Amino acid sequence: MDKPYSKRLVKPALFLDRDGVIIHNRANYVRSWEDVKIYPYSLPAIRQLSPHFSIFIITNQSPIGRGLLEEQEIIQINTKLKNLIIEAGGRVDQIYYCPHAPQDNCSCRKPKPGMIQQAAADYKVDLLSSWLIGDAISDIQAGINAGIPNNILLQTGRGKKQLLKSPPGLNYLIETNLRSAAKKILSTLS
Ligand SMILES: [Mg+2]
Repeated sequence: MDKPYSKRLVKPALFLDRDGVIIHNRANYVRSWEDVKIYPYSLPAIRQLSPHFSIFIITNQSPIGRGLLEEQEIIQINTKLKNLIIEAGGRVDQIYYCPHAPQDNCSCRKPKPGMIQQAAADYKVDLLSSWLIGDAISDIQAGINAGIPNNILLQTGRGKKQLLKSPPGLNYLIETNLRSAAKKILSTLS
C-alpha cells in the first residue's frame, strides 16, 4: 500500500470541477452568491476525502471573458465556497479558474490541462495517484490530458447529457454524484 497522505513528499490530489459537482449548475451561469446552491452531500464528501488528498477546485469561468461577470465577483463566490468547505471540516488548497472565453484560445480552459498543470507546479502533486471529478466530458479530457489516470464523470449537473456525447475510446468511471464518487475513491485507499 502507498504511504498515507501525510507521510508523502509528493501528494496525491483531488481535482474537483465546481458547477454541477459541488454546486448546482445554472443555465445562465452562477453570477452571484445568490445563485449558489450547494448539493447537500458535497461538504461531507469533501470532508471525508480531505485527509487523503490535496484538494483543488478547477473551474472554467467564461462569463468573465464574455463580459458577463466581473472577475472580483468570481473571487468572492469562490472564497465564500472555500470558507464553507473549511468550516465543514474539509480542505481546499487552491481554487483555479479560467476567466477566458472559448475564442481566446488560452491554455487553461478545460479540456486543456493548464489549471491542473499549474496546481502540479504550485504544489507537489503526484498526478499518477490523483483523481479528477467532473460533470462534463471536457473535465474528463482535461484530466486525461494532464496524465491523471482516474477520472470520474458524475451524473449530476450536465453529466447525464454529457454521457450521450462521450467520444469513443475515452476511458473514465461514472458515478451518481459526489457522495458515491467519494465512497468509490475511499474504497480504493484501504
Ligand atoms: Mg461543471
